[in-house]
Amino acid sequence: MTCDGVFTGRWVRWFAESVSTTEPELTDLDRRVGDGDFGTNLLVGLTTTIRVLDGSPGAPGSPETPPAAGPLEMMAGVFLDEVGGTSGPLFGLVFQELAAAARAAGPVLTGAAVEQGIDAGLAAVRRVGEAEPGDKTMVDALLPAVTAVRRAGPLPADRALALAAGGARRGVSETARLRARRGRAGYLGDRVTGVPDPGAVGVALLFASAAGPVTA
Ligand code: ADP
Ligand code: MG
Ligand code: MG
Repeated sequence: MTCDGVFTGRWVRWFAESVSTTEPELTDLDRRVGDGDFGTNLLVGLTTTIRVLDGSPGAPGSPETPPAAGPLEMMAGVFLDEVGGTSGPLFGLVFQELAAAARAAGPVLTGAAVEQGIDAGLAAVRRVGEAEPGDKTMVDALLPAVTAVRRAGPLPADRALALAAGGARRGVSETARLRARRGRAGYLGDRVTGVPDPGAVGVALLFASAAGPVTA
């Protein structure tokens, strides 16, 4: 598979579809551990992103193939500039680092760029959000995602993203066992034990959507 801008454009669209389908679950999770706006924050950001993508070179039906970084840069820009909540800018940073790694790799996304992008995204989220692993945040999905990719060695980008999805999903299950120390869930103490972190679920959806829309 050639992981060019058509691939990343499809990935972003599938991610939007996944979030649209799972928005009620994401909202319910954030109702239980936060203020209930996570699903809306993510969905509004992705709906706006798709509108931007539709009006840009490489949109379905257009003859140009954009570089792999193009759609990721658009998504990053929307989330950094327009999306609210804590997760808007933090997801924006992850998308921005994925886009920067893709841009550095050239027109086609590589497995090494996927690893580099997730790693830099994780570092950015940790720097800005000041969350440590085990605080029950999206960090707990990003860290096992990059670890899974790193352990596997050289891979094509689509395979690397599948491994990242598996790592992130395992991280999500772990977050259900954790007591929150950051974000709004941090104020709720033991009441959130047993509920997975919504931001971590969002990260798992991001990587899984590279292979198609996630329905449940
Ligand atoms: P808000 O609390 O502002 O309503 P959202 O609902 O948009 O934020 O996003 C909540 C998610 O953001 C959490 O599930 C968690 O994954 C992530 N998050 C919150 N605070 C932090 C932080 N300090 N560092 C990293 N991630 C965080
Ligand atoms: Mg919230
Ligand atoms: Mg909020």
